[in-house]
Amino acid sequence: MGNTPCLCGSECYYTTESMTHSVQGKWIVSHNVPHHKCDDCDEVVFDLDTKFIPMIRYAFDNNLREIDYLEWDNFK
Ligand SMILES: [Zn+2]
Repeated sequence: MGNTPCLCGSECYYTTESMTHSVQGKWIVSHNVPHHKCDDCDEVVFDLDTKFIPMIRYAFDNNLREIDYLEWDNFK
């Protein structure tokens, strides 16, 4: 997984660092989600096969404040 060009002219680099998302007023911290991130403009790009949206929906529906992508893969 290499770097990919960003719209701002910089590069997005591959990372699995934790992210925080606000979903309808709830803050959910997600760990180990593979994505590309640009340090210059904070753009975040997910790979198409990353099941991020259903994971956040799962966390939201179950009132979880944190969710781990690697563990969530085993829930299903
Ligand atoms: Zn950028």
